[in-house]
Amino acid sequence: MKDLIDRLAAGGELSDEEWRFLIEGSCDRQLLFDEADKVRRRYYGTEVYIRGLVEISSFCKNDCLYCGIRRSNGSAERYRLSKEEICACCEQGYGLGFRTFVLQGGEDSFHTTEWVADLVFALKEKYPDCAVTLSLGEKPRRDYEIWHQAGADRYLLRHETASRPHYEKLHPPGQTFQNRMECLRNLREIGFQTGAGFMVGSPFQQTDDLIADLRFLREFQPHMVGIGPFIPHHDTPFSAKPQGSLERTLTMVALTRLLLPKALIPATTALGTIHPKGREMGLQAGANVVMPNLSPVSVRGQYSLYDNKACTGQEAAEGLEALKKSVAQAGYRVVVDRGDAR
Ligand code: SAH
Repeated sequence: MKDLIDRLAAGGELSDEEWRFLIEGSCDRQLLFDEADKVRRRYYGTEVYIRGLVEISSFCKNDCLYCGIRRSNGSAERYRLSKEEICACCEQGYGLGFRTFVLQGGEDSFHTTEWVADLVFALKEKYPDCAVTLSLGEKPRRDYEIWHQAGADRYLLRHETASRPHYEKLHPPGQTFQNRMECLRNLREIGFQTGAGFMVGSPFQQTDDLIADLRFLREFQPHMVGIGPFIPHHDTPFSAKPQGSLERTLTMVALTRLLLPKALIPATTALGTIHPKGREMGLQAGANVVMPNLSPVSVRGQYSLYDNKACTGQEAAEGLEALKKSVAQAGYRVVVDRGDAR
């Protein structure tokens, strides 16, 4: 086991059998998490970076089968925030110590390329010491270029699964694996700090798919990797599918840390949703980022990607003091910092 971990950390390739042993075999999970934690401490010490997440719209033209705000969900309540509302969220966040703002949303055509660019420009002008991260889905290369020129620093676009046949089981025919991957390549070429990522335990996922995810990460070398358990949403075709497991998610976080020692890896809200200590466990398995919710309380419930999404306690910006405490209890410390990749 230790020799596999050392080979991984040294950039060596593992066989399918060896990956399988680490992902689902009878290996020592605690040892795996501890080794990942050692690697994270080598580059980031005990620092935990916080990102203020603003969920700017719950309108979406896409129809991802797993997602609660998919177009076909007629029961979803929809909202979109105005620029003024978003700026007010960031102002509150700045006061709390956030130095990265993440603007995430469904693919809402109402938010034009120019609208987003103006918003990014205004935020960067007001907060030159902050990073702006966008997470607004798949766009033409030109849009990404305009947003980058407007000052956006980072872009999150999870690849969702690195296996094409699996991707096709999670998305309708119009949403192609090829386009998702092309968007990721464009983002990186344009100069964004680029984030990929995937769900653990999404419907039809096999261990081979997770191996493909790890090999993709090694090849693509994203700056950020978001990993969370799949959690069913009652108004989607996957409502009756089981949620992803805590242990498997922590395992994938740890393996990702070993593969990408300098990556920014969030302990995700989804991880915090399936277990009360999920986020702390994520940090202890190699994660080094948390993304509390800065959205206005009045709309938070409507950005419902999956059931029971945690959004009022330590997941929320107003719970920051409590979050700092539990991060400290886990052995780390929240810092006021842009938190760029080393
Ligand atoms: N529209 C943007 C933002 C998507 S929401 C985009 O396309 O990138 C952010 C992430 O939430 C998705 O990438 C997906 O991995 C995750 N997500 C969506 N539904 C989920 C579910 N049911 N369970 C767990 N994670 C989910």
